[in-house]
Amino acid sequence: MTRTFNAPSAYVQGRDVLDDVGTHLPFEGDRAVLIADETVMNIVADPLVASLDAEGFSVDHVTFRGSCTPAEIDRIAAHARDVDVVVGAGGGRALDTAKAVRSDVGARLVTVPTIASTDAPTSSLSVLYTEDDEFDDFRFHGVNPDLVVVDTAVVAGAPTRFLRSGMADAVATWFEADAAYRADATNVFDGRSTRTAHAIARTCYDTIREHGRGAVAAVERDAVTESVDAVVEANTLMSGLGFESGGLAAAHSVHDGLTRVEPTHHATHGEKVNVGTLTQLVLEGRETHTIHELIDFSLDVGLPVTLADVGLDAPTDDQLRTIAEATCEPFETIHNEPFEVTPAAVRDALVTVDELARKRKRRDERR
Ligand SMILES: [Zn+2]
Repeated sequence: MTRTFNAPSAYVQGRDVLDDVGTHLPFEGDRAVLIADETVMNIVADPLVASLDAEGFSVDHVTFRGSCTPAEIDRIAAHARDVDVVVGAGGGRALDTAKAVRSDVGARLVTVPTIASTDAPTSSLSVLYTEDDEFDDFRFHGVNPDLVVVDTAVVAGAPTRFLRSGMADAVATWFEADAAYRADATNVFDGRSTRTAHAIARTCYDTIREHGRGAVAAVERDAVTESVDAVVEANTLMSGLGFESGGLAAAHSVHDGLTRVEPTHHATHGEKVNVGTLTQLVLEGRETHTIHELIDFSLDVGLPVTLADVGLDAPTDDQLRTIAEATCEPFETIHNEPFEVTPAAVRDALVTVDELARKRKRRDERR
């Protein structure tokens, strides 16, 4: 099997970069459509439109209604038939919608993430939801965005919970890409991983460990520091490339399993992934000190470590079985682990993480 590596054509990150998006476009044209929800539109429309206008683009606006559904994609695509470039701004759902619209209308794509919580900005796929807001399907577009623009001042101004969630997703990227690499499993493009993707995932993890605490402190005050810059790049660029070209494994499957029980619905994607990463470490038989280290880091930056932290105060046997079975569905990436995984093993790893994390928390409280 061949090795594959895919990435956006260009990536720009810095304070106030929204003011000169136009100068970074790696293509030409004269019609653009901007897709964002009302809140994001108020933040990004003025600088984006002024900057695109200076490069000769007329820009239409379409207000995103909040959910990446097939109907929403069709509705927006109908407004974007003859554009040269689709610009999507906001969180994962807005960007995923913009990606699907771009595929439908055949234009260029610029993604402008306004939070650093997901891997959506750089990737080539969209996560689709049903009208009832449940996971529907993945849509693979086979092509990554042409340009990703991250304004660190905008990202630092968003609630800290988004940055933290993105950090959890970025930490998972390393452990999952490494598991997939060791197992010689396939990545999102059905190819083998590359040494490049593996190295990016490793740097992603190191960056979060080195700068995570400092970045969270800065963003609590809406401040942009070098640590914020480092973490935003890790959450967005490194995590995006690392997961897509490196491959996923147990952590994201545990996340998917957790979403099957209602009490976890208030936890973000990254928060559930964090419990997934700890579960993966137990499944893999990692040394206790390695697991303690990640629990301690999570507690320092305010990420969940116990089942209660993600809404499951007193999980029933039924709930644990539901989670463990969903985690091991045949299509789940947990089967990329270099050993056989069963629902029983997942259940036992989950409750062990819970016990380890509770003990660690109590120890912290006594200090
Ligand atoms: Zn993720």
